[in-house]
Order: sequence, then structure tokens, then C-alpha cells
Amino acid sequence: MSAVVDPGLLGEIKRLGAADVSACFSCGNCTAICPLSSNDGTFPRRMIRYAQVGMKDALLSSKELWTCYHCGLCSDTCPTQADPGGFMAAARRYAIANYDRTRLAWTMYTQPALSTLIAVLLAAFFALFLYASHGPQNAASLRLFRFIPEGLIHMTGVVVMVLVVLAGLTGVVTMASRLSRRERSRAGAPRGGRFWKALWVALGVESLGQRRYRADCAAVQETRPWYRRRWLLHASTMWGFLGLLLATVLDYGLSLIGVKATGTPVPIYYPVRLLGTIAGLAMIYGVTMFLVDRLRRDGQAAKQSEASDWTLLLLLWITGVSGLLLELALYLPHPPAWGYWVFLFHVSVAMELVLLAPFMKFAHAVYRPVALFFLALAGEGMREGE
Ligand code: SF4
Ligand code: SF4
Repeated sequence: MSAVVDPGLLGEIKRLGAADVSACFSCGNCTAICPLSSNDGTFPRRMIRYAQVGMKDALLSSKELWTCYHCGLCSDTCPTQADPGGFMAAARRYAIANYDRTRLAWTMYTQPALSTLIAVLLAAFFALFLYASHGPQNAASLRLFRFIPEGLIHMTGVVVMVLVVLAGLTGVVTMASRLSRRERSRAGAPRGGRFWKALWVALGVESLGQRRYRADCAAVQETRPWYRRRWLLHASTMWGFLGLLLATVLDYGLSLIGVKATGTPVPIYYPVRLLGTIAGLAMIYGVTMFLVDRLRRDGQAAKQSEASDWTLLLLLWITGVSGLLLELALYLPHPPAWGYWVFLFHVSVAMELVLLAPFMKFAHAVYRPVALFFLALAGEGMREGE
């Protein structure tokens, strides 16, 4: 592990939204009170120390960075108002920007006006590209794939997915190799026998089941009604997004095996349609509540919002709501002409959202499970019997 000191590290993390942690005198209150910190993986104090002394490699190789859910308990109790919870969030932005080799993530985080312009231009590009091959608008019933050819949407979607997977994989490999080197230097050879168990804990128990967020951070969340608890909003957003993705893939799969052509009108209770509707509503609910929290600055995590926080939430919200409007248009007795434009808008924004995912906060959906995998592989953060 390189011990090169980067004197600009703290300044760069501050640029990404951290408070002035130079006042931190390492009292350790934050680590002691954090419900997720343990003897094996102490944070946030250690992460702050890395930043103060410029230990960039150590910071970027820390799985602990990703085990924080920004509950804000540590910030409430810090005697110097160094906002350690906010620091952890800013350090994760720094990590996302550094795992990305293209530097686009850094631009998206540090130049709000330019990143907004990129987002708008990208959506406009997709809309114009798809519209260039448009067909007629049938007034009697919404024939969406006559308006924009189905093959063109699928082909564009495949290109977008390939680009995203390439960009995402590059970041994940960069992160995993850093974490892996760090773990080897700490504890000798990784315990291979734990691989599958660690994978299950990271993906199933922690990511989908939100165990630590739900159970270990419960004390902080109990002040809110159950339907506004942050773990539930996070789960609702994540399950909703995954449900929509699954419904899209299933719909396409059914068309490939000849069960139902994509875009064929189906009753609302048709399983794939029902899955898409429920998932869309879940995502809209989670994202709307997060937006409300940020507008009201309700809770430590929502007290300070960066432009990148708004960008992700707004893109998810616009995608969800335009999808719901489209569904409404499909079931109205007299198909409205605006349904075609909502369709074009929805597809363009959804493609943009997916394409930008590795370069914005969305990337945490991949980096956090990777860190949790390494955490479980090292036997940290596991429950008795795991
Ligand atoms: S961030 Fe605050 S609570 Fe944590 S070690 Fe520094 S001064 Fe203490
Ligand atoms: S914000 Fe919460 S989870 Fe994150 S370090 Fe502070 S106390 Fe721990």
C-alpha cells in the first residue's frame, strides 16, 4: 500500500460538501456513538484522520466509508460541529469521483451548472435521436411502438447498457482491487470459504434486506413515524427501481419468446404490468419523501443538500412520474395525444438516468454492496452464526 501523502485531499473533500473538519481533535465521540462502527472497522474518526493527514490511498481503500448510512447521530454529538456524518457522505462522493477514470463524475459533482447542462443535453439528444425515426400517431388507440419503432428503442437501450456496464465495471474493479489489497495487507489471505456467505450477506441481507440500516440505526429513526423512516424510504426507492427494471426485462423477454409483443395493451392485473405499477408507485413514494425531507431540511442527512443529491432524486422522480402518466394515458377511455409525447420524454429521461448512473450518486448502489461484501468476507459486521 502506497503511503504517498496528498496535501490537497481535505480541500477536495470539502469541495464535495464536507464541513471544516480541521476543528476535529479526535475525541472519538462520533466513533463511540455510531451504531455501525465496531472494533474491527472504526469510523468516522479514522476516515477524518486520513483526510486531515492526506492519506488518499487509505481513504479510498476503506470499506468502512460505505458502511455509514448517514443517520447523523455522530454529527449531533460532535463537540466541534465538524459534522462527521456529512464528512462521510462527502468522502463517498470523493470515492465515486476517484473510482471513475473518465473524470465525468468529478465534473458532475463539482460543477452543478455544467452537470445540469449535460443532463438536459443528454435527454434532448435521446429525444431527438428517437424522434428522428418517428412514425404516425394513431388517434384511435395509443400505438407507441408505431410512433417510435420498438427495434430502435431496444437497440439504443442495448448500447446504453453496454456503456454503463463498461463504465460501472471499471469503477468496481478499481474499488475492489484497492479494498482487496488493503484487506490482504491487514489480515493475510482472504478467507475463500466465506465467499458465498459474504455474497449472500452483502446482496441479500444487507442490500435488499437493509438489515443494518433498519435494525442498527433504529434508535435514530424511531423519532419519525414508521412510514417516514429513512430505511423504509431507501428500501422503497431501491425495490421500486429494481422492480421497474425487472418488469422491463420480463416484458422484453415475453416478446422474445412470442408470448406477448412489447407494448400490447394488457389489463392492469397482468402480472408484469402489475409488477411495474407497484414498483413505480413504491419508487415515487420513496423519492418524493426524500425530496420533501430535503426541502424541509428534516434530519441530519437532509440538512445540507448538494446539487448531486437533487439531480439523482429529480431524475428518479421524473422517470417514475412520467412512467405513471404514460400508464394513465394507456388506460384512459379516449387515448390522449399527449401520451405519445410523454412516452418519448419518459424513454429519453430513463435512458439518460441509466447512462449517467456510474457518474453520480446512483453509483453507490453498486459500490456499497461491494464494500459490504468485503466487510462480510472479513467476518466484520456479521451476526452470531453467520
Ligand atoms: S468529528 Fe467531532 S466527535 Fe468525531 S472525533 Fe472529531 S471532534 Fe470528536
Ligand atoms: S452518520 Fe450515522 S452511520 Fe454514519 S458514521 Fe455517523 S453515526 Fe455512523
